[in-house]
Amino acid sequence: MPARDRWLHADVTATTTTPAMTALDRCDACGAQAYVRVQLESGELLFCAHHARKHAEALEKVATDIHDETARLHEEEGTAAR
Ligand SMILES: [Zn+2]
Repeated sequence: MPARDRWLHADVTATTTTPAMTALDRCDACGAQAYVRVQLESGELLFCAHHARKHAEALEKVATDIHDETARLHEEEGTAAR
């Protein structure tokens, strides 16, 4: 099987290997760094911890998958003194 086919297959089945979010990912509501990625039928939305919480109830109804990295936010706040 060509490597490309194996990769495609892995991408479809392994939902836990969603790429980690970076400082380049920005909240769609306010432009702050995003820590939550919401997968929808039609695309995806990014939210900071604040807006993810604010819209959580509505998002859960329409999301096909929610990738939450807000735990990472607390870790960074505790250790980063830059
Ligand atoms: Zn926001």
